[in-house]
Amino acid sequence: MTEVLVLIDHADGEVKKPTYELLTLARRLGEPSAVFIGAGSQGAAAAEKVAKYGAEKVYVVDDADIKGYLVAPKAEALQQLVEKSSPAAVLIPSTFEGKEVAGRLAIKIGSGLITDAVDVQADDGGDGTPVTTQSVFAGNYTVTAKVTTGTPIITVKPNSATPEEAAGAGTVEEFAATVSDSAKKAQIVASQPRKASGRPELTEAAIVVAGGRGTGGKFEPVEGLADALGGAVGASRAAVDSGWIPHSFQIGQTGKTVSPQLYVAGGISGAIQHRAGMQTSKTIVAVNKDDEAPIFELVDFGVVGDLHTVFPAAAEKVNERKG
Ligand code: FAD
Repeated sequence: MTEVLVLIDHADGEVKKPTYELLTLARRLGEPSAVFIGAGSQGAAAAEKVAKYGAEKVYVVDDADIKGYLVAPKAEALQQLVEKSSPAAVLIPSTFEGKEVAGRLAIKIGSGLITDAVDVQADDGGDGTPVTTQSVFAGNYTVTAKVTTGTPIITVKPNSATPEEAAGAGTVEEFAATVSDSAKKAQIVASQPRKASGRPELTEAAIVVAGGRGTGGKFEPVEGLADALGGAVGASRAAVDSGWIPHSFQIGQTGKTVSPQLYVAGGISGAIQHRAGMQTSKTIVAVNKDDEAPIFELVDFGVVGDLHTVFPAAAEKVNERKG
């Protein structure tokens, strides 16, 4: 069976959920091998985790020599691994870093690249190469595409698949990458972890509760419902531009793209630029005072009402059920 490489998304060895989603998709294309680039000592624990989602092999690339640099060394390490293993495809999480690694890798190996896929299938009628689904032009078109040159490199948005367990051997193979001096030209001088909010990362969260201009700057009801549901907080550009919440919370064309299982919008009208960042959410719920707000065109459930009343009441019910 052909090998499919999956780049593990992790924070200090802690494997993140999108990795399991990618492994689930990779099994449609061939035999998944995971790639761990990080502290060698954390490789075995990561391998154990990814084996539960079907990784037969886990390449561990010790980053002792490269972790102080930006993404170029990672792309170079991955290039060497692709050249060694000749995989059928490389799947990479659609994070800021993942997309940069993917772009650099594509250039290095002369391959086609598809970013921000929301689904990946093997081409049944053809040669089994990956066929992707993407939502493009602010979500106005759904495109199916495939790479026609080189090894397909595909970045996949978080929450595009439900992780399914499957026993894999998880055999660890250490891979010593040689990183050139030119890949080490940008060095990390200092890095500071984001202030922990206790909430999941916005682009990875299975549940997102977002607030817009209709919050009037009061995000407590949005945060209250997000916390009751164990979700992340998001915002429209109007809320960000009003200075009520930082840009890192913005969802949409010029913000982040989310694709959670549940998206709850409060006081958001549903402008096309906002939709571009959330319309692939599995279930969409909106609360809006205006029953003609465009957001109601795309919801699964809509509530015509004041978010300052509806969100706290919903949060209370959820908390009651949790006991
Ligand atoms: P509004 O459109 O003002 O809607 C507020 C809504 O709240 C209304 O529907 C109102 O009925 C409702 N409301 C008011 N009070 C309440 C209440 N108490 N309870 C319930 N409902 C209430 N926008 C983004 O979001 N993300 C982007 O990335 C983005 N990128 C853009 C890029 C470009 C190039 C441009 C031109 C625009 C972009 N925009 C983006 C802006 C976008 O066009 C909209 O202006 C913006 O999304 C509107 O935000 P909003 O829905 O919060 O505000």
